[in-house]
Amino acid sequence: MRLGALEAGGTKMVCAVGDEFGNLEARESYPTLTPEETMPQLIEFFRKADVEALGIGSFGPLSLDPAAPDYGAITTTPKLAWANYPLRQAFVDALDIPVGIDTDVNAAALGEATYGAGKGLDSLVYYTIGTGVGGGALVDGRLVHGMLHPEMGHMLLRPVKEDPTPKGFCPYHDGCLEGMANGPAIEKRWGKSAKLLPVDHVAWDVEAEYLAQMCVNTIVMLSPKKIVLGGGVMHQTQLFPKVRQRTLELLNGYVAHDNILKHMDDYIVPPGLGDNAGAVGSLLLAKIALETA
Ligand code: ADP
Ligand code: ZN
Repeated sequence: MRLGALEAGGTKMVCAVGDEFGNLEARESYPTLTPEETMPQLIEFFRKADVEALGIGSFGPLSLDPAAPDYGAITTTPKLAWANYPLRQAFVDALDIPVGIDTDVNAAALGEATYGAGKGLDSLVYYTIGTGVGGGALVDGRLVHGMLHPEMGHMLLRPVKEDPTPKGFCPYHDGCLEGMANGPAIEKRWGKSAKLLPVDHVAWDVEAEYLAQMCVNTIVMLSPKKIVLGGGVMHQTQLFPKVRQRTLELLNGYVAHDNILKHMDDYIVPPGLGDNAGAVGSLLLAKIALETA
């Protein structure tokens, strides 16, 4: 199959072509301006690439109920030019091919569970810790949507005493995951670029604590078979052992499964597909759209 993948982000749109096995070829990135400016470029890319179907992993919030009149639209984003924009329908109209859409993190979860760190698993949660924090979940082989779709980045956490900014920086909530643990929060809390903080700085203990609380909440809520942590902040690989250790301590023996008690190093892991998780997952959304069309 010749499939298209679009990673729709708030700052850039990454278009790629590939196949159902997750092999990626041509790739092109366009800045996210207004739909009027950006959409013609994306449509042109996929038209030239002659793809049979398109999969979109997008920033949100999104309308993901196939029965809703606005299915596949971006809804209430602070990126106002894209608010209520019918992203999926615009590609259906322009390209006349099957188009699948899901959240960027659900796409990445699907990619990782199919060809990445969780190859072959029917249950996996993927988080990105970057400019924002978002989580996608595959449960019993299905991507979770529920009422709208999960907003795991806004789960509430318990601040630690070493944190000089215990409310975090989310404009909506005091003490939510994204506001406490995204890249910009680290930089505001410590007054320094996250990339420049030394690996032994207390910043990474505070960050690991919040990510461990996130993992504990995830384990008790969804019981995933693996948790994959991606995004720019996780390039700080010293976080992984700290997050695993604190997750074990916070669980305190309560979830007594070997995956956690004996194989923690293989339970909370970086993405097997690296920065390609979202693109590969989007190819798989295209494949599903083609097969169910
Ligand atoms: P986005 O979330 O915008 O798609 P990223 O996942 O790359 O992109 O996240 C970017 C954020 O990650 C930046 O806010 C920056 O603070 C943080 N970041 C990127 N690289 C690193 C790094 N090596 N160490 C720590 N933080 C990083
Ligand atoms: Zn929040």
